[in-house]
Amino acid sequence: MYVGRFAPSPTGPLHFGSLVAAVASYCDAKVNHGKWLLRIEDLDKPREIPSAADTILRQLEAFGFEWDGEIIYQSQRHAFYTEAFQQLNAQHLLYPCTCTRKEIADSSQQWGIEGVIYPKTCLTHALKPLAPSAWRIKTNATPIQFEDAIQGTLSQQLNEAVGDFILTRADGLFAYQLAVVVDDAAQGITHIVRGADLLASTPRQIYLQQLLQLNTPHYAHVALACNAAGEKLSKQTLAKSIDASQANQRLFEALSFLGQHPPDELKNATMADLWHWAMTYWQLENVPKIKNMVVKM
Ligand code: GLU
Ligand code: ZN
Repeated sequence: MYVGRFAPSPTGPLHFGSLVAAVASYCDAKVNHGKWLLRIEDLDKPREIPSAADTILRQLEAFGFEWDGEIIYQSQRHAFYTEAFQQLNAQHLLYPCTCTRKEIADSSQQWGIEGVIYPKTCLTHALKPLAPSAWRIKTNATPIQFEDAIQGTLSQQLNEAVGDFILTRADGLFAYQLAVVVDDAAQGITHIVRGADLLASTPRQIYLQQLLQLNTPHYAHVALACNAAGEKLSKQTLAKSIDASQANQRLFEALSFLGQHPPDELKNATMADLWHWAMTYWQLENVPKIKNMVVKM
């Protein structure tokens, strides 16, 4: 049984970095005779670009990706996230927090991998009345270890790497970490192949899976594509949208980036030939490891 997925956020069109993640998860699912599901992570409406989800779907179609089953949209799944939230709350693991970013920055003494560690102020002090509250989950010092199929064995202590993290924001939005865990389980995902920007989030997701008594999928994180300045390709670094009229060239490049060495004569091949080659010769073992693990755990 293999169920993989691609889960883009509609904050902009696909760029080369997201194409690489899509190609990796697709090839790995297909060579393992698995399913490949699609989920649009449109949880963060304020950051969303309204037409981006449709653009992404059209880009995927132009490349010849074929997904299985219905596309899931996170914006329609709040009831499931609420249920998981309540299940965690019943375990006395959650608490409200009315601190502002500035208050946290001013009062924290400790740095983690994504900035300051929340100093648990709202656990020990009264909440600010009338202030909208986020909800955090308590973390602890038990190391969370997992085997990444590309990057090897990794371990993180959540309390010192990230601290008590947010599950719902003060504006009421569910956090990515909670939604992704609920949806991966709901879709029966067994294998997650995605960009290494999410490597450091994986222990948080495993922690939530354990507390919600959900299976932990297999993980494989592919190194990120960078621009000439060495910055990760993303909407923030203004990565260019992929041009579907050059789909075969881009697919050839994505496969090369993934360490698959497609033969030169495929440079001008049709999409069908390229995909056929990829489905025949894909080897996860050939995907390069991150060299000097820039991702702090
Ligand atoms: N929606 C996330 C992104 O576009 C990916 C989530 C995932 O693959 O777990 O970065
Ligand atoms: Zn607080």
